Amino acid sequence: MTSGERLALDAPAQAPASRAAALEAIAAEVRTCTRCRLHAGRTRAVPGEGHPDTEVVFVGEGPGMNEDRQGRPFVGRAGDLLVRFLATIGWRREEVFITNVVKCRPPDNRDPEPDEVAACLPYLQRQLQILDPALVVTLGRHSMGRFIPGARITQAHGTLHPVDPTTGATSAMVYAMYHPAAALRAPEVERQSYDDATGIPAALLEARRRRTTASAVAGAPATAEAFPTPPPDAGPVDPALDAPTFF
Ligand code: SF4
Repeated sequence: MTSGERLALDAPAQAPASRAAALEAIAAEVRTCTRCRLHAGRTRAVPGEGHPDTEVVFVGEGPGMNEDRQGRPFVGRAGDLLVRFLATIGWRREEVFITNVVKCRPPDNRDPEPDEVAACLPYLQRQLQILDPALVVTLGRHSMGRFIPGARITQAHGTLHPVDPTTGATSAMVYAMYHPAAALRAPEVERQSYDDATGIPAALLEARRRRTTASAVAGAPATAEAFPTPPPDAGPVDPALDAPTFF
């Protein structure tokens, strides 16, 4: 694949109705969920949205103010930037699925409490089981922590790793990116995020290759090694970016 060439997402024009229905059933549960205290302060829950038969799922951290008002993920300025990241590789948000670790906005955009994350994670797990993506793209530190435990985002952004099947993504790779809101605050993070976005098609190709290899060898587990694909000048930008942030 040459630079500037668009990698087409391998999705049929017509998504299987059963998969769309299963995702909508989860969304309906989320919209009325009272499993954790975050339900008390929300305007609208944000289950997630996108193509039900996509190969790529983007996972953010939690709804912000605009998302809470509209009930849709990534619809504010951070969402606009995510759309621009996708545009650099010729993709549209309608072609992927976008969701968050927690589905309701924490008050004052605080970090979610561990029990809130634990209460909400089964929804993400079930979404991933239904979507069965080849590639999960994490947006931000909280999301990355679910898929690459112990990693630091200043070092892991722009790199590709196997996904723990217990996350619900049973045969996927995970590619880490900064949260777009962090990119809005720091030009250097924005520049690195554009670089990371250009690495997504190569990450998907590698994820597809791994899946094909694993399915060809019945019962063969994915290897545990990571395949870093660092951006040209990857490196710590600001150590504070590894600190808890929630948007
Ligand atoms: S954050 Fe998740 S677990 Fe908590 S009320 Fe919202 S949907 Fe339910």
